Formats: sequence, C-alpha cells, structure tokens
Amino acid sequence: MPSPVPEESPMTLGPSRTEPRPDRAGRRQSPIDIDPAGAQYVPSLPGIAFAFGPSALTLGTVRPATHAPGCDRDDEENIAARPSHGSATAVVTDAHRNLVYELDEVHWHAPAEHTVAGHRFPLEAHLKYHRTGEPSDAMVVAVLVEPGPAHPVLDQVIAAFPEPGEAQRHVPLFDLAALLPASRGSYRYSGSLTTCEYGEGVWWVVLAEPVTAAEAQIGAFAKRIGPNARPVQPPHERAVYTDLPPKG
Ligand SMILES: [Zn+2]
Repeated sequence: MPSPVPEESPMTLGPSRTEPRPDRAGRRQSPIDIDPAGAQYVPSLPGIAFAFGPSALTLGTVRPATHAPGCDRDDEENIAARPSHGSATAVVTDAHRNLVYELDEVHWHAPAEHTVAGHRFPLEAHLKYHRTGEPSDAMVVAVLVEPGPAHPVLDQVIAAFPEPGEAQRHVPLFDLAALLPASRGSYRYSGSLTTCEYGEGVWWVVLAEPVTAAEAQIGAFAKRIGPNARPVQPPHERAVYTDLPPKG
C-alpha cells in the first residue's frame, strides 16, 4: 500500500524560509551523504515539471559573505551562470496546488558536494531556483557528473569562464535542458545553502542519474573553481525521500 506523503516531504511543507545560520549550529545543513538504501520511497512525491526556453547565459564571479561569524572558509569563490530572466521554470505539483519556481543561477562544485553511499563524484551542478513571489523559498536541483562521454554544453561554459578580475562573460544561446539527465528520479531533503551564511529552509532535489562529462571538461572546472566543496554535514533527524522504487 502506498504510504501517504509525509508531512515533512519536500514541497509539501508550504513556503520555506531561508534563515542565516552563520554559527553552523543548524540541524538541517547541506550537503549530506545520500544513502539510497536508507531513503524513504514515496510514490506520491510531488512531481516536478522542468521547462526550459531559449536562454543566454551571463557568467560572473561570486564571492559569498565572509564577514559573518563562522564564515571562515576561503574556498567559496565560484563562477555563477545566470540564465535569461524567465527562461526556465520548474512547476512542483502535489495533490493541492502548483508551485512555480524560477531558475536564478547555475553553478558548479568540484568535487561534488553530495556523496552517494560514500561515493564522491568529481563534479556537481547546482540549479538554484526560487518560488515566484516568495524569494526566500529556495529549491536547488543538484546534478552529479561522472567521467565518460563529453557533456554536450559544458564546453560553452568553460570557454566563457571569466578571467580573474574580469567582470562578466556572455554565452548568447545556451541549452539549459542539456544540463539535466534523461531520467528525473530524485532524492529530496530539507537542507541549507552550502556557502556562507548557510541559510536553511532549502529544498534539495538531488537527481539520481548522473550525467557524463569528458575528463578534460571535469578537469577544466576543477582547475578554475576547485576545490570548492563544503564537507558533508550530519543528517541529524532528517529523512531523505525518493520517488525511485526500491530495488529487488
Ligand atoms: Zn552550490
């Protein structure tokens, strides 16, 4: 018998709020190790419909705040790629309503921040969304990258990495949809931003299927932005939910 959607399941809690946790004392911090065998299977997990239109990309350097107490890492500088306004949405649908999220930014971590059963991938993309009309309701879709056939669009990003000191670079036309794997099965949990000030109330959607990239593509990211992964944080009392049926 299918279990009901747990009250705390991602996207059913209602508006979440990103609260700064500069002391890192929060109990819902990210990233975490995802244990597929320990994830709770919820067949009725809210569906997420991704929509991507034609988009340009603006790449710039981002430096998270370092003034707050506890914000003492020196590896948080990153390159953020911003799509054209309104070019990408994700509609989250549960039994009661549709929630529309808009894509603000894509960035990468080398190596990956989330681990899967202890395995660390060499690269992870973060697609950072906010809910329309609720800027503090954040959802991040994580895509793990493993070595293999070349990624279809990462060369465009690599070619547009701003040089140190350079303000911005532009990609005139970028296929955002190519960032996602073919299958959309995911692990979902409530966590935080992984850079200062580590605000909680972020819904994480870690797509289970990795995409591939050539070793040279992964190496280009590692050289330019890495290493910039925050260490794995304790799960505490949190559950990880999945729409992937258990194996066997
Ligand atoms: Zn990130």
